[in-house]
Amino acid sequence: MSQNQLVMPNSFCWYQACPDYGKVNHGNIRKFGKTRKGTQRYQCKTCGYTFTETKGTVFHRRHHSPETILECLALLAERNSLAAFHRVKGIKEETIMEWLCKVARHVEEVERLLLANFRLTRAQLDALWTYVGHKGKKGAPGDRGTR
Ligand SMILES: [Zn+2]
Repeated sequence: MSQNQLVMPNSFCWYQACPDYGKVNHGNIRKFGKTRKGTQRYQCKTCGYTFTETKGTVFHRRHHSPETILECLALLAERNSLAAFHRVKGIKEETIMEWLCKVARHVEEVERLLLANFRLTRAQLDALWTYVGHKGKKGAPGDRGTR
């Protein structure tokens, strides 16, 4: 029972109106054939929503695994230190910034994954996006800046 076991995009329903939306390993996701390109497709048994395993495409065609990328982003959110990565992971700051820029276009997906896998707060997530100058519309004002 590893708390660090990674939740992958195919372990929960992405359809926001679904009663089981975002419930990880809830047992509502089943395999649902493949696309013409051979990509595994999944379906939510609750709402019927289908998606492919490449949902969470932020991680698509990256050299590093989704696990590594998420972990790095989580670390970044927690510690707000890019320099630490190079030491810990041997991953260059530029690389992480590149990931961050990519995932900033998929804020919701990524946040969902991060929240599912790591104990991160709203403020930490917000801090993460500020690295790439992405200011999401969500996030309650007054939530940050306790000084
Ligand atoms: Zn669903």
